[in-house]
Amino acid sequence: MKTIKLHDKEFKPFISEQQIDAAVTKMAQDVANDLGDEVPVFIGILNGSFMLVSDFVKKYPKPCEVTFIKLASYEGVKSTEDIQRLIGLTQDLTGRTVVILEDIIDTGNTLHEIHRIFKNENVKQLVIATLFYKPEAYKKDFKLHYVGIEIPNKFIVGYGLDYDGLGRDLPAVYQLKTTQHMTNLVLFGPPGAGKGTQA
Ligand code: 5GP
Ligand code: MG
Ligand code: MG
Repeated sequence: MKTIKLHDKEFKPFISEQQIDAAVTKMAQDVANDLGDEVPVFIGILNGSFMLVSDFVKKYPKPCEVTFIKLASYEGVKSTEDIQRLIGLTQDLTGRTVVILEDIIDTGNTLHEIHRIFKNENVKQLVIATLFYKPEAYKKDFKLHYVGIEIPNKFIVGYGLDYDGLGRDLPAVYQLKTTQHMTNLVLFGPPGAGKGTQA
């Protein structure tokens, strides 16, 4: 794996296809073991979860249903709150075991929205499974039932996750590169600083 460039930024290899495969396999097996004879409805949150859901359900060893929803921000609405519009929830979920499949949980704001939406759906249980999780960024108390891989609070792309539209197609995950130059600036100030060069 090599460093890649998307738009103006460089990303370095971070999580390999093999590591992702192992994490997805384990999550699918754990969910299947815990749910017994229950036939779950897996709900992927678009766009980011499309690759995870495809791989996850292929590894899920029992009958299941699969669908997707999308949370889209209203455009042209001025609000400090991030107002979300729900697209795609057409199925009656009364009494069903719903398993949310998320690509990544960061602050937990999206998860908060998901809980608000499913509160009105009379589901039997709402289970949360996420492939990636940033514990340092998470600000909510909602339980995460299944976590694939915990990662530091740094921006990643690949395996469904994008940087301004690019990178979703990558089969592995890359992390935003902090250049040596930038690190030096933060740690030591700009080149020449402290050497008596000021006028
Ligand atoms: P949260 O609502 O938990 O803060 O973040 C959820 C959404 O933010 C994710 O579904 C994803 O779209 C985006 N996000 C959070 N962290 C990252 C990241 O490291 N990389 C990318 N590409 N998107 C992220
Ligand atoms: Mg997501
Ligand atoms: Mg995105």
